[in-house]
Amino acid sequence: MGTERKKSETENAPGLLLIISGPSGVGKTTIAREVEKRLGGVFSVSTTTRPKAPHDQQGIDYYFVDHEAFDRLRGEGAFLEWAEVFGNCYGTPRDAVEKALNEGRLMILEIDVKGAMQVKSNMPDAFAMFIRPPDEQDLLERLRARKRDKEQVIQSRFAQARDEMHKAETCGAYDVFLVNDDLEPAIERAVLRVREELERRRGGGGGN
Ligand code: 5GP
Repeated sequence: MGTERKKSETENAPGLLLIISGPSGVGKTTIAREVEKRLGGVFSVSTTTRPKAPHDQQGIDYYFVDHEAFDRLRGEGAFLEWAEVFGNCYGTPRDAVEKALNEGRLMILEIDVKGAMQVKSNMPDAFAMFIRPPDEQDLLERLRARKRDKEQVIQSRFAQARDEMHKAETCGAYDVFLVNDDLEPAIERAVLRVREELERRRGGGGGN
């Protein structure tokens, strides 16, 4: 009817909590940011005790806090999940996730495997994607190409990355594994897969 108010795209639509993980150097941030941009999602800004690097922006890349503040927030139940990664604490603020999901939005968490396992066990409806390199050698080369770390740090990140990939494959938390062999096609596959999931949940006629 002509007088009916036009519904916004997300009104009454269930939100989708999307988890994106992958070893460092695999390109997951680029992929996650493109999914956010192309599908109109919201990117969760984590709280961390990691020291702020020169390229980091407070409140955009992370909320940088000290250990005392992190522990206080954790004690207050402010995090949906939290984990220690490379000796620093990282947590996902619960309020922002709940707000976005209540608004029917696509909420994106870029978190590690331990965090993904916590979220999936509390919120089984979350959709979890793991980004993999084509092979281990490729990952090692990407870590070196970033020119961010010394060889010793690179080797330690590489060992952790192998561990993380093994854990991701065996923990059962991930719905999809996506290989980043070539960035643009990998972004397109990720966007397509998330769009399909959104459509399925937003009444594509299926059972749920
Ligand atoms: P970076 O310090 O290099 O940005 O991130 C290091 C690792 O921490 C990445 O694997 C990233 O996905 C993970 N991470 C970032 N934020 C969170 C978070 O809120 N929770 C968990 N569990 N991991 C996070």
